Amino acid sequence: MSDEVASLLKSLSLVTVPDDEVSPVVRNVIDEFKSSKSFLWRIYGSKKGSSPIFLVADSPAFQAAASSLKKCDVIIIFSGVEPILDSICSALLSSKSLFPAMGPVPDTVSESIYSPSDCVEKVYFPSAQLSGDRKVLKDKLVFLILYCMLAHETTHIMNGHLDLFQARSGERCLMEFGPSSKNVTSLERQTLEWDADVGAAEMMLRFALDPEITTVSGRSKWTIKPLGRFGDADTSIHMALAATTILALVLTMSKGSEESYGDDHSHPHGVHRGHHAHVALEHFLSFRTGFNRRDSSDQRLFNSVIEAWYQVFYQYLDESFSPAWSVDGLRRAAGRFEEYKKQWSILHPDLQAHSRGVTIAPASPQVHPAHPQSGILG
Ligand SMILES: [Zn+2]
Repeated sequence: MSDEVASLLKSLSLVTVPDDEVSPVVRNVIDEFKSSKSFLWRIYGSKKGSSPIFLVADSPAFQAAASSLKKCDVIIIFSGVEPILDSICSALLSSKSLFPAMGPVPDTVSESIYSPSDCVEKVYFPSAQLSGDRKVLKDKLVFLILYCMLAHETTHIMNGHLDLFQARSGERCLMEFGPSSKNVTSLERQTLEWDADVGAAEMMLRFALDPEITTVSGRSKWTIKPLGRFGDADTSIHMALAATTILALVLTMSKGSEESYGDDHSHPHGVHRGHHAHVALEHFLSFRTGFNRRDSSDQRLFNSVIEAWYQVFYQYLDESFSPAWSVDGLRRAAGRFEEYKKQWSILHPDLQAHSRGVTIAPASPQVHPAHPQSGILG
């Protein structure tokens, strides 16, 4: 470990889990992520000449961080994240209302799991030992959510967020659940979080669909293959929607987000993040593949998947976490979306200057040259 990485960990009071003690699930996600050079090519060969270093911090917190040091970039995931996700996904999939045809649900023992972190409210989920197809699905979901979290941290680096922070205030590390720099306003920080969520949604969708990728007039075009990583296209889209929904709901338990729709917080409300991630998934499907958002069966897929997962999640939470999936929540999320877009275009020149040698999304979105008739801008 280099001196600057050791000094970063010391400043954060963190110790890493030795490589051979990292949980196999987390190890798999990191290995998959590191091998997906197509996602990370923007970092490879950029000013630091190497891909980021992935570390697992020995801590029960639900926390992750990204850091841009002088000689390397570092992405940290805390060891507490995976067991929390595993518990929550097991509890959700032990409900009969999800995938009723999938096989028996397990007996559950109540109140044996909670989120053990200073950053997250204490919430109890029933303990559930899944088996068969339900366990397989749970493992895939945990993998995809962890993948999404690493993609979010990577986007903070790729899209220049960390270097923008550094230029403004000298800070080199961004903890997900922690205060923003004094020189970055709440709206700016939330906009960067939104940008990272959108980047993560695109990476995760691309991972799940595993499309054939070509470039048309400088924009990448995806052709969906009959089988993605998780089955046919609908199944892969379902997995991506489920992963973003579960992650958003877990984030509503975070004390770092604006639980009361206030302004003075570093992160958007988890529910808003969920809505925005779903919008982003639909957007990338439309923009990259020409998917028709007006097709009613596609709309039904989106709505039914999201609603089913919300409903099951809220069986376990008290009223203080809702009303999440409501008209009011959607209206507020739409309002925030406009604010973030406006703030993002103000930050665009700075982000472009700090991004890792890539063209970030254009300040003025345009139709995709491969399917201009769709009218979808990106
Ligand atoms: Zn973030």
